[in-house]
Amino acid sequence: MLSISHALTGAFIASKLPHPALYIPLTLATHYLEDWIPHWDVGTGLSNGMRKIKTAFLLELIDLAISIVVVYLFWQAGQTKIQYHVWIGAFTSLIPDFLEAPRNFLEWEPFFLKPFNKFHSCFHHSVTNKVLGLTPQIVTVGLILLLK
Ligand SMILES: [Zn+2]
Repeated sequence: MLSISHALTGAFIASKLPHPALYIPLTLATHYLEDWIPHWDVGTGLSNGMRKIKTAFLLELIDLAISIVVVYLFWQAGQTKIQYHVWIGAFTSLIPDFLEAPRNFLEWEPFFLKPFNKFHSCFHHSVTNKVLGLTPQIVTVGLILLLK
């Protein structure tokens, strides 16, 4: 899924649970669950050459920037203290994609990342149809907005 969906999910989970021992594993598990749902993201089309690496990288930077802004607006704005747990949740929820980034954007996969990326690939179901692929993410973000 898009980083926006993952980051908001991770931030939301962290905002609702009292301890990192609870929300860190849950945000990681949720990443794989969300990727299991057929979806469209900026990496869709990279493996079959339908999308160029440079384009995917630029879209990913935009996706990450929007994620940071939205997490800030939802949980940090107006707070006097840094909401570390929310930022940790958002970051943790993106770790599987960060681990995959060298392979996707540099065409370089260190040996120690291969098992993690192989595990990630087992869950990843992307679709090229944007309407079909964005709908579950819009629903996810909408639910988070309602439940926040
Ligand atoms: Zn992923």
